[in-house]
Amino acid sequence: MTELAFHNSATRQRESFVPLDPQHVRLYVCGPTVYDLAHLGNARPVVVFDVLARLLRRRFDCVTYVRNITDVDDKINARSQESGEPISAITARTTADFHRDMAALGCEPPDEEPRATDNIAQMIELIERLIANGHAYAAEGHVLFSVSSFPGYGALSGRSPDEMLAGARVEVAPYKREAGDFVLWKPSADDLPGWDSPWGRGRPGWHIECSAMSWRYLGPDFDIHGGGHDLLFPHHENEQAQSVCAFPGSRFARTWLHNGMLLVDGEKMSKSVGNFLTVRDILGRGAWAGEAFRLLLLKTHYRAALDYTVERLDEAKGELDDFYALLARDLPTPAEDDALVAEMAEWALEPLADDLNTPLALARLRDLRTLENVATVGGSATTVLHRVGRDWTPVSGQAAAALRQAAAVLGLLGSDARAWRQAGTDDSAAIEAAIEARLAARRVKDWAEADRIRNALAAQGVVLEDGAGGTTWRKA
Ligand SMILES: [Zn+2]
Repeated sequence: MTELAFHNSATRQRESFVPLDPQHVRLYVCGPTVYDLAHLGNARPVVVFDVLARLLRRRFDCVTYVRNITDVDDKINARSQESGEPISAITARTTADFHRDMAALGCEPPDEEPRATDNIAQMIELIERLIANGHAYAAEGHVLFSVSSFPGYGALSGRSPDEMLAGARVEVAPYKREAGDFVLWKPSADDLPGWDSPWGRGRPGWHIECSAMSWRYLGPDFDIHGGGHDLLFPHHENEQAQSVCAFPGSRFARTWLHNGMLLVDGEKMSKSVGNFLTVRDILGRGAWAGEAFRLLLLKTHYRAALDYTVERLDEAKGELDDFYALLARDLPTPAEDDALVAEMAEWALEPLADDLNTPLALARLRDLRTLENVATVGGSATTVLHRVGRDWTPVSGQAAAALRQAAAVLGLLGSDARAWRQAGTDDSAAIEAAIEARLAARRVKDWAEADRIRNALAAQGVVLEDGAGGTTWRKA
């Protein structure tokens, strides 16, 4: 297999990937703060790192993927105060919504999904270590991380102290020694969530949550940390500072991967611009929409900015229609150990090893579709084979099997092909009956009646396709 390589945000270089423990790859990704439905920007890292986890699982025997749930946060408190809904109800409902939406985008659950509120003891322990190591101080019920105590601060995001002060929008407060010092723990009023601690009743800052949960589930050193590029500073810079200072000698994550931002209609998504879209809004467009949105996301390299438009969503649906039209055919099933199928699938997936190049992998899936069409229906595969650079002459069914195998690593084409093509239709029984009637007319060579039925169905937007395995139908 091709060697794995990623663009590491920490070194700003492409690096070959070798796990710390060759038997066990450890991956941490920042999860949602559960106070509202996931929007399109929230979905992008979940899909990107789902593909990464699938790729790692294919290559390594053991992968632990941890993605947290932030269920204690000022945004959650504010939402509860606005709406009157209890905090526990908001976080439970929003977590369930998140799970449902991400499943609809074809994302597998992570191996561990710790909740911040189940890891308060670990956060307190980390903060105590930071105080003992001279990297944090308590003042007026708060505990702050002392930025000047850690010379490496700013190295991850590559920012100067001035840029960091501007970027973090720091709060000036009397209990801070320096403006850039950030909160590890803060006091809670009686009507807000709080836990007993050596510094009084209080609650954690956001950054310490991820340091505590990654440490608990993956240890002080692990392989990959992922998240949106918007989290690089201050969140990831602070996570790294906390973890490295709490465990001297450790280096925290070796490889940092950040996905680019998502725009809607060419602009940053915002409620005031009127282009704010939730995943639920997209899913409401039809049973096809989750997979089409996933494909749309993967058509852009994860580090690049991505522009969502309805036209691009429809275009992605059209591409899926083409793939499913092929897979709905009655094709021979190759043997499970078919060497050519394995070779073609491996070739299609090769680009993922090169910093998760999903656009090129998708182009190769389209090439496999062409090869299958040539093998099954006829035509020329010269252009594709020239691109492939190998002397393949697949027989019917082989390229389709490779296509299915490779697409599964991208989390695509897992739907039932016939069901996909009929999705959105609730009159399938009537259509099946009409197809039967047409076949009966054809058997007695009543071509006029057969054509009449075909045309009547076409008028309802139902397209018939006659093949070796019988007649199938789909919505036009
Ligand atoms: Zn985080």
